[in-house]
Amino acid sequence: MKDIAKKSNTMYLLEKYQLQAAKKFGQNFLIDLNTIKKIVETTHIDKQTCVIEIGPGIGALSEQLSYHAGHVLCYEIDTRLEAVLKESLGEFKNIEIIFQDFLTVPLKETVERLKQDYQNVCIVANLPYYITTDILEHILTSGAELSSIHAMVQKEVALKLTDPNYHSPLTFMIESVGDIHLDMMVSKNVFSPAPRVDSAIIGIHIDKTYNPLLTGILKQSFQQKRKTIYNNLKNIFHDQTKDVLQKCQIIEQKRPEELTIDDYLKLTQFL
Ligand code: SAM
Repeated sequence: MKDIAKKSNTMYLLEKYQLQAAKKFGQNFLIDLNTIKKIVETTHIDKQTCVIEIGPGIGALSEQLSYHAGHVLCYEIDTRLEAVLKESLGEFKNIEIIFQDFLTVPLKETVERLKQDYQNVCIVANLPYYITTDILEHILTSGAELSSIHAMVQKEVALKLTDPNYHSPLTFMIESVGDIHLDMMVSKNVFSPAPRVDSAIIGIHIDKTYNPLLTGILKQSFQQKRKTIYNNLKNIFHDQTKDVLQKCQIIEQKRPEELTIDDYLKLTQFL
């Protein structure tokens, strides 16, 4: 099928397969071809790139990605979509679909394998909003050698993640591997069913390798956000905490969000 995202094609597929969007899987399907084309433009993918797509749904975004990418590897959790995806994407030889929860995918090994055939591997997804943070953390902490991540998230989340004054474990993880941009706003009206809020596409460009020790330090530091870094880190460094903070030149009364990524990277050296 060509141009799955055309309203008439989407409606035909949804009706033929009697598909009710599953809330528990965060299903909000894109139903506007122009929006999908613009999203694909922001990714700058080419035939040397393999795209990993999380949650193809009925295949509207996957199809447009396949015209630009060398290969599109999709992970979909909802096995109800098997028949519809066979009809909508069956003819596209460079699209592969695996029915698996993306959070269980061994990403580092998968990307290593894909990089034997493709120069770049990137992630593109209209994310299921109920697990936005889990998915982004799974990708970033995997240590997979990705070139970029392009993700549709709720507008508020996009604004927070791209605000240089907002800090959370996730923003520090992103900062440790590269930089983030707000690429485009997306109206809630181009989805079916329409979500309550507008969305936006964020782009994360990756040029550094993730330090796996960062995950534990960040989680512990933000355990109690309102407490000082000293109090949060006592659970890791015990009676060495003062000494470690001093050696890293970190003021112990600071709150976790007041530290910099360099502070956190210095702390990993004392683990
Ligand atoms: N890509 C389609 C589009 O843009 O129209 C669908 C996007 S919809 C917002 C999110 C998709 O992710 C759904 O197809 C849903 O079933 C799938 N999904 C939800 N949780 C998932 C998970 N843990 N692993 C893989 N796919 C998941």
